[in-house]
Amino acid sequence: MNRNSGNSKVKLPADDQSNGWYEILTDQAPSNPLKGSDSTDWLVIGGGFVGMAATRRLAELNPNQKVMLADAQRIGHGTSGRNSGFIIDLPHKGDLEGPDIERKRKFIGLNRAAIEYMEKQVTTHGIECQWSHAGKIQGAVSERGIKFLEHFQYLLQELGEPGTMLSGAELKKKVGTDYYQQALFTPGCILMQPAALMRGLLDTLPDNAICHEDTPILGLEQRGKRWVAKTRHGEIHADKVLLGTNIFTEQFGLLTSRMLPIMTFASMTRPLTEDEFKAFGGSDDWGLTPADYAGTTLRFTQDRRMIVRNQYRFVPNYSSTGRERQHIREKHRDAFLARYPKLSHVPFEYTWGGVCTLSSNYTSFFGELKPGLFASCCHNGVGAARGTISGKLLAELASDGDSQLQRDMLEVSGMPAWIPPEPFLGVGVRTRLKMAEWVSRSEI
Ligand SMILES: Cc1cc2nc3c(=O)[nH]c(=O)nc-3n(C[C@H](O)[C@H](O)[C@H](O)COP(=O)(O)OP(=O)(O)OC[C@H]3O[C@@H](n4cnc5c(N)ncnc54)[C@H](O)[C@@H]3O)c2cc1C
Repeated sequence: MNRNSGNSKVKLPADDQSNGWYEILTDQAPSNPLKGSDSTDWLVIGGGFVGMAATRRLAELNPNQKVMLADAQRIGHGTSGRNSGFIIDLPHKGDLEGPDIERKRKFIGLNRAAIEYMEKQVTTHGIECQWSHAGKIQGAVSERGIKFLEHFQYLLQELGEPGTMLSGAELKKKVGTDYYQQALFTPGCILMQPAALMRGLLDTLPDNAICHEDTPILGLEQRGKRWVAKTRHGEIHADKVLLGTNIFTEQFGLLTSRMLPIMTFASMTRPLTEDEFKAFGGSDDWGLTPADYAGTTLRFTQDRRMIVRNQYRFVPNYSSTGRERQHIREKHRDAFLARYPKLSHVPFEYTWGGVCTLSSNYTSFFGELKPGLFASCCHNGVGAARGTISGKLLAELASDGDSQLQRDMLEVSGMPAWIPPEPFLGVGVRTRLKMAEWVSRSEI
């Protein structure tokens, strides 16, 4: 029986070429796209946090089998290599707000298991990616922001998790600006250079895992008991397929009308000189997220670059134009200058966007979609921890493994709620994003 779960005209990733994290890496070896057809025990499609962790874990669990990873782009070029580099241990946003304490503890356990798994690779293989136990600062500019922080601190206390309030003056010593009135510091978050991490994970995959970059999958269908993935030059036949394709999963006709494609953007300066660093007056290696979610995220890296992230756009084509990015770069510049007028001569070198998925019920998908076809997606914009642990656990589920963490993951996941079609969707989402930007304007 032929069961086609795809459409040969799939929309493929088309990320801009200006991801600063990726561009500052030293030259990468050429990619190894799949030329003809091939056969494999396991095929993982998409090499972001989900797909990379799934590939490694499948290879660990099935040392005598072949694990193939195919990505349409270079690893580190997609969203997992273009984020702000926070691996957050605590439940985020909707997950933290919910009433169920046990559920929140499950999120914490899962996120910390992700950090532990990733840290093991980073330390074992000496992956150079600015990995740091720097923690996370959540900064409030206005009274509105302070109210959010007080609420978060209360929610953390309920969970027995540490969270220290810092005054504006204490914060200034760290972040070099008195723009913020108050901040909440939580120690369990990891900071890293995301493109360097993804490339390092790729380079250290077990020997029975092979990665074909620049190998887009154009369609997926079931033939008998096997899965067949169409490529530009042939087919890949696999016993089991794991999807780490996030929003692109719907291009295979799966989980359609359930995930909202949302893009957010970042700009990166060149490294500060010694004199500029002194004028800046803070320390290096920290990350600050906004008290109110539509606000501005800041990173100051170990090599003394500043990264500014804000703005959300609804992107039904999963991409942005150069003109949009130019406009957004100006908004990033405004946020940078408001905080660091002394650094007004320091230019941005890069501005880029990355597509994430949100669901209207704040629910991710994790599990088996069809016999032999597994997926984990829709991590609501914070996929570094959730994507990694869900990829690892998906590999275990597909390999017939069982664990408490896997049961926890199944319990906290579900089905992203159905969303209406265009044009209603676009009108509704754009209005919501504009409203969020307006009410959070003091924190941008
Ligand atoms: C600017 C920005 C800042 C962010 N900051 C953070 C942060 O600090 N912390 C955090 O936790 N999250 C952050 N996020 C969100 C986070 O990056 C995502 O949640 C995460 O990357 C999702 O991982 P993933 O593996 O599910 O999907 P992706 O990283 O999107 O990976 C999907 C992969 O599938 C490939 N693919 C798609 N279709 C095909 C196909 N047909 N054939 C082959 N390959 C295909 C793509 O090329 C891509 O590599 C941020 C996002 C952005 C854009």
